[in-house]
Amino acid sequence: AKPRIVVLFGGRSTEHGISCVTGGSVLAAVDREKYDVVPVGITRDGQWVLESGDLERLKIKDRQTPTVDGSLPPVTLTQAEDGSELVVHEAAGPRSLGHVDAVFPLLHGPWGEDGTLQGQLEMAGVRYVGAGVLASAVSMDKGFMKVALTAAGVPTMPSIVVTAREWARDAAACRARSEELGYPLFVKPARGGSSIGISKVHDASEVDAAITTAMEHDPRVLVEGFAAGVREIECGVLQLPDGELRTSLPAEIRIGGDHEFYDFEAKYLPGEHTEIDCPAKVEDELLDRMQELAKKTFDAVACEGLARVDFFVFPDGSLVVNELNTMPGFTPSSMYPQMWGASGIDYTELVDLLIQQALSRGTDLR
Ligand code: ATP
Ligand code: MG
Ligand code: MG
Ligand code: MG
Repeated sequence: AKPRIVVLFGGRSTEHGISCVTGGSVLAAVDREKYDVVPVGITRDGQWVLESGDLERLKIKDRQTPTVDGSLPPVTLTQAEDGSELVVHEAAGPRSLGHVDAVFPLLHGPWGEDGTLQGQLEMAGVRYVGAGVLASAVSMDKGFMKVALTAAGVPTMPSIVVTAREWARDAAACRARSEELGYPLFVKPARGGSSIGISKVHDASEVDAAITTAMEHDPRVLVEGFAAGVREIECGVLQLPDGELRTSLPAEIRIGGDHEFYDFEAKYLPGEHTEIDCPAKVEDELLDRMQELAKKTFDAVACEGLARVDFFVFPDGSLVVNELNTMPGFTPSSMYPQMWGASGIDYTELVDLLIQQALSRGTDLR
């Protein structure tokens, strides 16, 4: 029998809509000759449903992203004798879809990219694409990601974490600690993505609003020094089915117009002002250093499967890792697949390699 692959998308985070778009793209790309594909959506409130797989619905229309439809039949992933199986709950009673060989969790942000879902999959005894529990959790929290990267000798921007408890107890002390980093500052929800909740703070008058905004998304907030005059370049890491790591050619993001940084709109609703150079125009020496540092970053958080490592390149050529995303944007026009396209691996093959890598894993500690 063909391996049964669950393509999982949607989810409880603010990146629900983007995840649905990705889900649609991957569903369109998985080789049906080779795999038995089951689309499963997670609604905004966490309900798992058997999706129709109607690809037209899973597209951005009128600048609106799609959502998972909660009226579809609920499904559960349950532990079976030989791993796990999907059970659909219908009026006529529960119906098993049978054994699941691997899950492709195309979820971004908390409850998807942060180890919680990965833990659920581990408990159910099913293989899955991408980072495990620890790597997902560490990489999702920008504060802890920096602890791991710093310990491994990977350079990052100086930063502090402000928690809601500290902010409520002594905001003045939090402001003073932030100010030591110097203006401008970047203020981010510790566990976020797609630039949601992120502000650039130009002076002291903007600090409170930025922290309050970030705290609407996460009680843990990262306040970070500004990387001035940098180029923003990203690099893909892919773990092949034999376990080896491959790095892609990098891509550069050039922001212009009224966008001060790579914000949500510049990412997903690009106008005339966001330009992507894929591959980035970089000298061989910088390329080598970047690819080495991308692998080192991947290993520093014990990542698996895939990651997109985002760099700042300073005018003197020095590199800083802004962050690593364990489930980067994955539509055909997203940076990660684009970088692999430029490196000789097209979208269909990329999806296949990731599934093969997941299938090659055990369900024991690895
Ligand atoms: P993603 O969608 O890649 O997961 P994210 O929400 O995790 O993004 P970041 O990548 O940390 O957020 O930041 C978003 C953008 O803000 C960056 O791509 C960059 O343009 C800008 N930025 C973030 N931190 C800094 C900084 N310290 N200095 C200058 N620009 C920054
Ligand atoms: Mg990120
Ligand atoms: Mg992200
Ligand atoms: Mg980023």
